[in-house]
Amino acid sequence: MDAKDPGARPRIVSCPCCGGESVYAPSNPFRPFCSERCKNLDLGAWASESFRVPQDTPVEDDALPPPKLQ
Ligand SMILES: [Zn+2]
Repeated sequence: MDAKDPGARPRIVSCPCCGGESVYAPSNPFRPFCSERCKNLDLGAWASESFRVPQDTPVEDDALPPPKLQ
């Protein structure tokens, strides 16, 4: 249990993309992903999800009739 030992085995985490083993250390530039491919896949999925968000706002406010006369 010597966490400061530089010769210790690298920490292994689960890749968020494929769930496989990923080396969580400076030697792995794609951490916490296991590989560049998983990193790109995850970023791509995230980007395509977020691209749909702006379409959520209705832009036809002026086309709607007033709900009530005052
Ligand atoms: Zn992976």
